[in-house]
Amino acid sequence: MAVKKIKLFLFLSFIVGLSSSCGDKFQPKKEIRTDCVLGSEPIRKVLFIGWDGVRTDALIAAQTPCIDSLLIHSYYNWSTDRGEHTVSVPGWSTILHGVWPAKHGLTNNTFSSNNYKTYADIFTLAKQVKPNLSVATLSNWDDFLRITELENYAQRFDTDRDVKDDAIRLMNSCSPDIMALHFDNPDAFGHDSGFSPTNQAYLDAISVSDAYLSEIMMTIAQRESLYNEEWLVVISTDHGGEGTGHGNQYDLTQTRYVWSILRKPGMNGPVQIPIVNSVDLLPTMLNWLNIPVQASWNLDGTVLF
Ligand SMILES: [Zn+2]
Repeated sequence: MAVKKIKLFLFLSFIVGLSSSCGDKFQPKKEIRTDCVLGSEPIRKVLFIGWDGVRTDALIAAQTPCIDSLLIHSYYNWSTDRGEHTVSVPGWSTILHGVWPAKHGLTNNTFSSNNYKTYADIFTLAKQVKPNLSVATLSNWDDFLRITELENYAQRFDTDRDVKDDAIRLMNSCSPDIMALHFDNPDAFGHDSGFSPTNQAYLDAISVSDAYLSEIMMTIAQRESLYNEEWLVVISTDHGGEGTGHGNQYDLTQTRYVWSILRKPGMNGPVQIPIVNSVDLLPTMLNWLNIPVQASWNLDGTVLF
């Protein structure tokens, strides 16, 4: 390493050190955590990917070569019930806390009524059983970073591309045990020009997410072949939409009933699961890490496989 490069490295390390202080999760612009602690699970890993606001019929209509190839090695469902209160904070909370709004308490895009202390998030539950797990959240939406806690690494980005780039860097530099990524672009295009399988701009936004997924899956394929890691990759959405919105649409199939894809290493052939609820994803992810669901957690979902 040239002297100039070493100086740059030291300078950047200093900046990173400065920005790693912690604050209140519920303040705007959540604290940034930058510890890339090495994962403690040598083999099994979990990657959760949230694509915000992707309708099932639009996902099927969009050009998504990566999803298409992933399905061959996946369990999947095209009518996953994400419950009532069809906005993002309740939706992601249902997935990442494994309980319905009646328990986590969130029915709109604020956090004031949360019961997160009683119904903890996936990282908190996992660390109760395996305290040394390394966990990370990467998002370009502030609020997504307020849904979970105890991350070793948590970062907000300005674009989906940055989320993707940093996720790949993180996998290659410390391979966290559980990662949650949030991609916001499809929802933004839905609000802008319509959540519809006939809106090409919306479909194109989904295709961009698919291209990012492709790069992430290439990284996973490399790691699985080089280091024998086994990544369960769970991809889903928080809601669909109709027109240019999705709030208060729990009675609309295209908004409430979404999709979920669970790519499991070693699977040969797609397996459609007839009934899936968003609350089933958390226990299934923990089960992959050999973390049995505790009765005291009072979760609403079940392990899917
Ligand atoms: Zn939205």
